Amino acid sequence: VILPGGPLPGALPEIVVADALSADPRAWVPQTADVSFLPLCLSLSQGFYVNLLRVRRAGVLSRHYHAQPVHGWVLKGRWRYREHDWEATPGTYVFEPPGEVHTLEVPGDVDEMITLFHVAGALIYVDDAGRPCGHDDAFTKHAAAAAHYAANGLGAGALASRVR
Ligand code: FE
Repeated sequence: VILPGGPLPGALPEIVVADALSADPRAWVPQTADVSFLPLCLSLSQGFYVNLLRVRRAGVLSRHYHAQPVHGWVLKGRWRYREHDWEATPGTYVFEPPGEVHTLEVPGDVDEMITLFHVAGALIYVDDAGRPCGHDDAFTKHAAAAAHYAANGLGAGALASRVR
């Protein structure tokens, strides 16, 4: 029986991020000098995350492997994978199947690139020989955001509202 007028007992609350592109600049978590991310949904219970990835000044996201699928939707700027011959522009949707290995690169004439990514599982970074050398997942994103928000005064509440 579906109860009228409300969520079922035990259902988690929804996440609503109004006008995410105009978020408090402090909500963007630096990842490298040129790359930062805005967490929208960090699912510690299911092991995925949805974020806005922002790259400035012709940045690069190191070569990595996906064991689980990724969905991407470009909002601003342009980017390409060194391993593929197509370019992603605003409005482009990308499905990255498990097994993908790629290096995200933003061309030098793009001031700012923003793409929404839904990443299941982990990105496994690989070195030039293809050996695993690090990873990112909902937990590393959560830890990075927690440290950043603690340091810049946004606080734990801002992060908790994005975690399920
Ligand atoms: Fe990727």
